[in-house]
Amino acid sequence: MGVKRDFNRLVHYGPQTMAQPIESDPTIAPGPQGAPGGDTTHFGYRTVAEAEKAGMVREVFDAVAPKYDLMNDLMSAGIHRLWKGAMIDWLAPRAGQSIVDVASGTGDIAFRMLERMGAAALPVTICDINAEMLNVGRNRAIDKGRLDGINWICGNAEALPFPDMSFDACTIAFGLRNVTHIDQAIAEARRVLKPGGRWMCLEFSKVLVPMLDKLYDAYSFRALPWLGGVVAGDREAYRYLAESIRRFPDQKNLASRMEAAGFAQVKVRNLSGGIAAVHSGWRI
Ligand code: SAM
Repeated sequence: MGVKRDFNRLVHYGPQTMAQPIESDPTIAPGPQGAPGGDTTHFGYRTVAEAEKAGMVREVFDAVAPKYDLMNDLMSAGIHRLWKGAMIDWLAPRAGQSIVDVASGTGDIAFRMLERMGAAALPVTICDINAEMLNVGRNRAIDKGRLDGINWICGNAEALPFPDMSFDACTIAFGLRNVTHIDQAIAEARRVLKPGGRWMCLEFSKVLVPMLDKLYDAYSFRALPWLGGVVAGDREAYRYLAESIRRFPDQKNLASRMEAAGFAQVKVRNLSGGIAAVHSGWRI
């Protein structure tokens, strides 16, 4: 894969280490880089050098981290909770399974899985490139008394800091559109799954209901940046959000990229008329 990783140097933040804030891990593997000064990618509607994108995405989430959870509720009128619930219902996690949630942000998916699995739950591993987001989640875990339910890892979805075939299930919610190389992140998800393991991706997708797309456009390009400016103090971050959603592959395209990465039984469920979609695939 061309990316060197040293799993022994990885800092696992569990209950014993939670007194200290999570720090950005200097050993984070950067993922594949384009030729110097060469390849470009998109950051929202802007074209930027590949090497710049991860830093720009990091700045966005550094800026919004303290208000991220509140903004999620305000922006979606709470609907993101139903979408996340739909993915977890479909995954139907069971006690005893090893699960990793990638691009976990503040750990919302892990908290929801633990609530669902109750006392029988084993720790869920979460992994995000941004230490700020993880720290907001860590404070949330302290408030909820869930410190021992989650393993916190600062790492890159494009070069996951886990050995091959480590997990029974891998999820990613609203994270895939932020990575620089989507296909690399999909390949990494498959690599860390055990045979028989399942990957689920919840992401904004292509609206399939006539007229809803127009309303949705107006909302996301006008109301959303305004709300981001007022509540999170960062209008630009929420403009990026709207743009990055439009640049993300539609349902069919993402499904074929999963198949190209070797996932089997790829299936899609649309949510709210395609505003979001869950993709599911198995490593067989
Ligand atoms: N999954 C959470 C949720 O649904 O609430 C958070 C989603 S948030 C929109 C996107 C997250 O992806 C941010 O926390 C960001 O730091 C993370 N992210 C972006 N690029 C990443 C990468 N290359 N590797 C891991 N995480 C990444």
